[in-house]
Amino acid sequence: MRKYVIMGVQGSGKGTQSELLAADLDLVHISVGDIFRWNVTNHTKMGAQVHRLMAAGELVGDDLAESVVQRRLAEHDWNFGFIIDGFPRNARQAEFFLESYDIDGVIHLDLPDSEVRRRVFGRRLCVNCGMDYNLLADSPAVPGRCDSCGGELVTREDDTAEALAVRLRGYHEKTNPVLDLFRRKEYVITVDARPAKDIVQQEIRTRLGLPPVKPSGGAGER
Ligand code: AMP
Repeated sequence: MRKYVIMGVQGSGKGTQSELLAADLDLVHISVGDIFRWNVTNHTKMGAQVHRLMAAGELVGDDLAESVVQRRLAEHDWNFGFIIDGFPRNARQAEFFLESYDIDGVIHLDLPDSEVRRRVFGRRLCVNCGMDYNLLADSPAVPGRCDSCGGELVTREDDTAEALAVRLRGYHEKTNPVLDLFRRKEYVITVDARPAKDIVQQEIRTRLGLPPVKPSGGAGER
């Protein structure tokens, strides 16, 4: 059983690296942002509650974020473990998490802010399956269409200059201190997020003492 948290500034590749790790280690990838986005797209009550805050780049309330995580982990479909992305985002959420779950490690993807804007503005999301694309590094075969399901690729509503500024400020003020909390417990490995995704993935595995990417299993592919 492996339980990881992945942290890093916007555009550092948390979703991509989580998927690569989850794919051949049979981990469940839990993205709190994806859960909220799903609710917005599907016009649920929760979606209506969080839509405006998300579009503005603000964090949604801690009670809601914590209950989303609690409910998702209570499904217990993670026989081999999980990797959670987008949580915890502040000290309160970190305390909640540490009280409720033991973890094996925190993966910190380190990316300078100068790279963040370039990456975030080149990012597209499939409206259908949620796959993340970075037009700088891995454009889809057919422009504007998802390689895996053919869905339309769109810009995330919060990938605007205004919302990104709010999100970056929130990250540095509220989320970064969480890393110090985890560092004190010696959970954190920091990995340079600038290289190509396969190299970053390999580095994560080496640092966590995990087996290398299986030749047939995903990390160079979408
Ligand atoms: P992400 O995809 O992780 O960038 O998350 C997108 C948005 O979802 C954030 O900007 C927040 O509005 C909301 N969100 C995601 N995770 C959390 C969290 N742990 N606490 C509060 N809001 C969150």
